[in-house]
Amino acid sequence: MSTANREAPRPASGRAGTKKELPEHFKDYRHVWVFIELERGQVHPVSFELLGEGRKLADKLGVELAGIVLGPPGESNQSAVAEAFAYGADLVYNVEAPLLADYRNEPFTKAMTDLVDTHKPEILLLGATTLGRDLAGSVATTLQTGLTADCTELDVDADGSLAATRPTFGGSLLCTIYTLNYRPQMATVRPRVMPMPQRMDKPVGRVIRHQLSVAEDDIITKILGFLPDSQSGKANLAYADVVVAGGLGLGAAENLQLVKDLARAIGAEHGCSRPLVQKGWLSADRQIGQTGKTIRPKLYIAAGISGAIQHRVGVEGADLIVAINTDPNAPIFDFAHLGIVTDAIRFLPALTEAFTRRLSPHSRDKLAS
Ligand SMILES: Cc1cc2nc3c(=O)[nH]c(=O)nc-3n(C[C@H](O)[C@H](O)[C@H](O)COP(=O)(O)OP(=O)(O)OC[C@H]3O[C@@H](n4cnc5c(N)ncnc54)[C@H](O)[C@@H]3O)c2cc1C
Repeated sequence: MSTANREAPRPASGRAGTKKELPEHFKDYRHVWVFIELERGQVHPVSFELLGEGRKLADKLGVELAGIVLGPPGESNQSAVAEAFAYGADLVYNVEAPLLADYRNEPFTKAMTDLVDTHKPEILLLGATTLGRDLAGSVATTLQTGLTADCTELDVDADGSLAATRPTFGGSLLCTIYTLNYRPQMATVRPRVMPMPQRMDKPVGRVIRHQLSVAEDDIITKILGFLPDSQSGKANLAYADVVVAGGLGLGAAENLQLVKDLARAIGAEHGCSRPLVQKGWLSADRQIGQTGKTIRPKLYIAAGISGAIQHRVGVEGADLIVAINTDPNAPIFDFAHLGIVTDAIRFLPALTEAFTRRLSPHSRDKLAS
């Protein structure tokens, strides 16, 4: 795959090195596309975040922003089309077919690659969800183009190339990647990395419909049924308004209960730094950071977390960061809005008690239920 990687301390707004003439046939590729992901009939919010980012790229390039909706006939497909317009799409390419009812790689890859071959977008963005990662990889491979995964910033250069920036070397450097020789330029972005755009009251716009050119017999993957989610109480960290997390400073697995108690008292999700997952104190879906979840809560309380760069990149979108740490020189105090230099083991129960005391009986009952 001929993508060119260049290391940069911050995303480059212009490429370093010799400027390369873009191949003539690249002019055939126009417009920015965003894959609208349907998850059990609901649009995954990362699709809206990407429409917000796609709008900026399309405006810079002076092109249109399109949503790609692949779904079964019916309500969910229609509402996904309407939502794509409400979050800024100028038009929607829609493939509606019963075979697209539940995600399978083959029909989705076929639908997407046929659309790309026909309409030639210059940029194609997908959410870095389980589904999006699976689809993006096979679409890029089938189209033989470059794909930059888990981007944290997207921009366009003066020559119209997509500058896709992502962390590298364990998160200590940012790397801006260009797809110089192939089109479309593909990128995935994790949920919550980009802000949620404003929803607009906008009438439905142009919908361009396509047929799915694959039959059930051609698809080797069969869905036999769905098992109930084995992880009851699965974390919803990415979209939580309030998150309380613990780190190695808690000292022992049982002290995590102090984090959970505070989270419960204020109706928050609880999470942790990576070492706690590695120790088996919490499940991987509770890890916050570069290799865990990116969060954007209104309030983030971090107890006994040093604030390593790999943790920081997952939390710096929070509106208010409160850090509790015994070390006044801990790196987390460089980006926390409020720092409390104290022992978390003693402070967390006091905070929980103070919140519980101040909550109205109604709120207390609501949180307890
Ligand atoms: C490729 C890669 C990916 C990574 N991905 C992630 C990731 O996604 N998420 C992540 O979190 N990390 C990630 N890491 C690990 C990261 O580099 C750090 O090692 C990790 O975040 C440190 O966790 P910590 O802050 O809990 O522990 P430490 O760094 O050990 O910090 C513990 C903190 O607790 C404080 N403390 C001690 N006792 C108390 C007390 N009683 N009360 C209050 N404070 C106390 C200490 O002063 C210290 O600041 C990654 C690393 C690599 C190389």
